[in-house]
Amino acid sequence: MSDVRRVTDPRRAIPRTDLVLADPRLAPAVAALGRSLVKTAVAEAQQRVREGLVAPTGVVDDVLAALPPGASSLRPVLNATGVVVHTNLGRAPLSRAAVAAVTDAAGCTDVEFDLATGARAKRGRGALAALAAAVPDAGDVHVVNNNAAALLLCALALAPGREIVVSRGELVEIGDGFRIPDLMASTGARLREVGTTNRTHLRDYADAIGPDTGFVLRVHPSNFRITGFTSAPDPAELAGLGVPLVVDIGSGLLAPHPLLPDEPDAASALRAGAALVTASGDKLLGGPQAGLLLGDADLVNRLRRHPAARALRVDKLTLAALEATLLGPPAPVAVALDADADALRARAGELAATLARAGVDARATTSAAAVGGGGAPGVELPSAAVSLPERYAQRLRAGRPPVVARVERGRCLLDLRAVDPADDDVLREAVLGCG
Ligand SMILES: *Cc1c(COP(=O)(O)O)cnc(C)c1O
Repeated sequence: MSDVRRVTDPRRAIPRTDLVLADPRLAPAVAALGRSLVKTAVAEAQQRVREGLVAPTGVVDDVLAALPPGASSLRPVLNATGVVVHTNLGRAPLSRAAVAAVTDAAGCTDVEFDLATGARAKRGRGALAALAAAVPDAGDVHVVNNNAAALLLCALALAPGREIVVSRGELVEIGDGFRIPDLMASTGARLREVGTTNRTHLRDYADAIGPDTGFVLRVHPSNFRITGFTSAPDPAELAGLGVPLVVDIGSGLLAPHPLLPDEPDAASALRAGAALVTASGDKLLGGPQAGLLLGDADLVNRLRRHPAARALRVDKLTLAALEATLLGPPAPVAVALDADADALRARAGELAATLARAGVDARATTSAAAVGGGGAPGVELPSAAVSLPERYAQRLRAGRPPVVARVERGRCLLDLRAVDPADDDVLREAVLGCG
């Protein structure tokens, strides 16, 4: 009796974990993803057998179908939002050259070693030389983890227990609750606020400067615009006040960009007299997350030698990607910014026509793309999109690869400005796969 029950009990038929894991069809997955991830998938498949959803003989096939595509849960997605630097999608996508550099540097690499002499060498010298060459107005350069780290280091090294003079119009919150004044105050430096939200004059700064001043901070209000009755002194005027002027330009443009006339750039800020410029590496520069510090050689050296610099230093992967971004072909962000609107319209027209022929309610439309990443607020980049019924947005996000579209006025828009033309085929297949 008990034997009969054991034989008919479906649990008796559940293939044993070690036997499933030993199946040769799973060997490539174990090699690529590691035993632990595959084992989790096996446990989930066994549960489906238990629930009667999968036949005991189908367990290996079920595991293969359910395996994650990679050992990291981060997945590559297609950015069809029309936001070129999308913070939630990891800001700047790296260029192929930068990706290759990251791959090369991922193993053992000569990041801090001179292969000619066999002796220790300056860490990241290639990336630093490339940055210095890209901004000849900088006396020296340094790279830290992100722009927030760059600002933190300025406060720690140049204003310990002293004052940072900053306009009330520049006490900005960047995103996700990150407030620059709070960051600066967290170092123990005191913020000396001057002027008003909309107008701050040179004399406001001059009146506040004294023996306690560490530096004057200028922050680019990168994610909003105050228009109307506004004024702020030129950096050149502030630079003449006798204390270091630190300019946080935000987006990381190294030189002026014709499409973004209001976006500050490092070269212009230095030429105007900034002692130090800080910027992000993964916004308009189009590189890896990094904080760029450029300017006066003595000040950069003080920052580099501060004990906290070690806690803020970048790893070899960042250095590799940054150097390749600076020296290699234009990064995807630059390509997307410079994309010709007519070419975008032609791509959208072609894609929409192909989809319509396949029976999809798709049409090409003009669209307004944005810089994003908290940069160039109010700047609209003329773009083109494929317009689909709204329900596609959710289905496209569930695809492989996931496509993130923009929903606007009840339609799902696939904006092509931030999509690599080489990915138009992937986009087409993704839509067709939603069928
Ligand atoms: C984005 C931004 C920051 C923060 O930069 P992270 O690299 O994200 O740390 C700081 N200041 C300004 C003006 C910014 O636009």
